[in-house]
Formats: sequence, structure tokens, C-alpha cells
Amino acid sequence: MHQFSVKTHSRVELVDITDRVRSELGQSTVRDGACLVFVPHTTAGVTINENADPDVVRDIIAHLEKLVPANGNYRHSEGNSDAHIKASLMGFSLLVPVEAGQLALGRWQGIYLCEFDGPRTRKVYVSASSHAPFPT
Ligand code: ZN
Repeated sequence: MHQFSVKTHSRVELVDITDRVRSELGQSTVRDGACLVFVPHTTAGVTINENADPDVVRDIIAHLEKLVPANGNYRHSEGNSDAHIKASLMGFSLLVPVEAGQLALGRWQGIYLCEFDGPRTRKVYVSASSHAPFPT
């Protein structure tokens, strides 16, 4: 398992980590298989979405904030319940197909680390594995 760190700069932020994941995958010998991307955190997650129009990410952040306001009526004494909930909504892992050694992402897809309680330094684990070949 490989890992890299991402430094975030605000409380809520989606950071495009597609190139970082690609470069980790480039160090593996996997040609056809799957690439696991995992964050070992409870207030940050990972997701895939459009990386062409930055307004998509702005809309995701704004609407998550409407769904789960920072100042809601929460019990968790640490005061960051919204971050825990938003992270669970995004999820903590992704599995991306690997074809010919490349991430098989769609044309407009990027991989984002979702920071909900920053700024912090976050870890991202990347692990690629090969499929067993289908019998021909
Ligand atoms: Zn907490």
C-alpha cells in the first residue's frame, strides 16, 4: 500500500488528487485490475466528480452545507458533527478500474479528497491489484 499526504487550506475544500493517484499507480506493475483509494479519516472523504467546470465542486460544497449545516443541533461535543456526516455522505474509499496500467476514469471525472474539518494534513492510501485473467 502506498500513501501520500494532502495539505488542505480551509475548513471545507475539495482537492483534486487525480494526478497524485495516477503517479502512485504508475509505480505499480498492475496492468488490468483495480485501484483502491482510501482515506483513514472520519471528517474527510473521497469522491469522483467533474474536474472541468470548477462550479460543480462549488455547488457540491454549497449544497452539502445546506443539507448538513455547520451549526446544527448536534450532540457530539467536539463540535464537528457536520464534518463527520458530510464525510460519511461522500465515503472513505473508491475503487477505480485500471486498464492498460491507466485509471479508467471517464473523460470529465476527477478524484477529489473532500476536506470537511480543515485545514489539516490528510493521508490518502493507494493500492492497486490485478484481476485474475478471464479464461479465453
Ligand atoms: Zn468529531
